[in-house]
Amino acid sequence: MTLLSSPSIRRVQRVRHDLRIRRLAVSRVQRISPGFAAVCFAGAELADFTSLSFDDHVKLMLPSAAGEPLRRDFTPRRFDAARQELTVEFALHGHGAAGAWATDAAPGQSVTIGGPRGSMVIAADHEWHLLAGDASALPAIHRRLEELGSGQRALVLVELADPADERRFDTAAQLELQWVRNAQQWLAALRELELPRTEGFVWCAGEARTMATARALLRSHHGHPPEAMRVSAYWKSGAPAFHEVLSEPAQQP
Ligand SMILES: Cc1cc2nc3c(=O)[nH]c(=O)nc-3n(C[C@H](O)[C@H](O)[C@H](O)COP(=O)(O)OP(=O)(O)OC[C@H]3O[C@@H](n4cnc5c(N)ncnc54)[C@H](O)[C@@H]3O)c2cc1C
Repeated sequence: MTLLSSPSIRRVQRVRHDLRIRRLAVSRVQRISPGFAAVCFAGAELADFTSLSFDDHVKLMLPSAAGEPLRRDFTPRRFDAARQELTVEFALHGHGAAGAWATDAAPGQSVTIGGPRGSMVIAADHEWHLLAGDASALPAIHRRLEELGSGQRALVLVELADPADERRFDTAAQLELQWVRNAQQWLAALRELELPRTEGFVWCAGEARTMATARALLRSHHGHPPEAMRVSAYWKSGAPAFHEVLSEPAQQP
């Protein structure tokens, strides 16, 4: 069976969007928990904003002393078309420019965002979904859980150092949830998971080396088909502005 004829890859639809750069203003900031801030951006330029997938990202462009803006990727956590308001949730990891910006963000500040340039739309009607990752992946996981319907089964595995950052999910899906405290525990829990024998889709995101190990585990230990998983590196330990995607079945747009 070739990749293109596999049912799972046909059920991941790649959609391209015209690249739009938008000037917006911070409208609200909420500290969700000690390690997370939700920042809302508003502005008329959001009128035609589209985000088709929880896997999407926008590029946040921040002013820097060097002149060239700093560019960092974030998940569109929620878009309220009626209010023309986009929410992004930042993991306040304490080491980088974007995290520091979000810690001090205040209403009225102007920001520039680009994208999403494209969406990988993963069908919602797989028999089960594994959604797994660290704090950087939690906004996407939360969005996906809100999108899944009743009768769908979601296995969720999240690494968060601080238990105070754990949250309740508003989801109609049948949720099987595990929180762990560090990457080693996360990988051990991933290995020990009993993935259902039926057809399902695996989505993982987080630190680059952890994701590389996760991908190998999913393929060799669990025998999960590569065309039914998307494993992305959202950041890399020790590497500012890192951007790389380990993904299957298709490249990130
Ligand atoms: C498609 C995509 C979607 C993403 N969505 C989100 C999102 O919704 N929310 C979110 O918080 N992040 C998200 N990320 C991750 C985010 O882009 C990175 O964490 C980014 O590096 C943060 O920029 P920074 O300026 O804070 O840190 P950088 O300047 O890039 O890095 C500075 C230092 O901090 C470390 N670092 C970076 N990120 C983390 C982290 N998460 N935890 C611990 N240490 C870190 C780096 O290793 C480096 O040593 C996403 C990434 C991608 C690719």
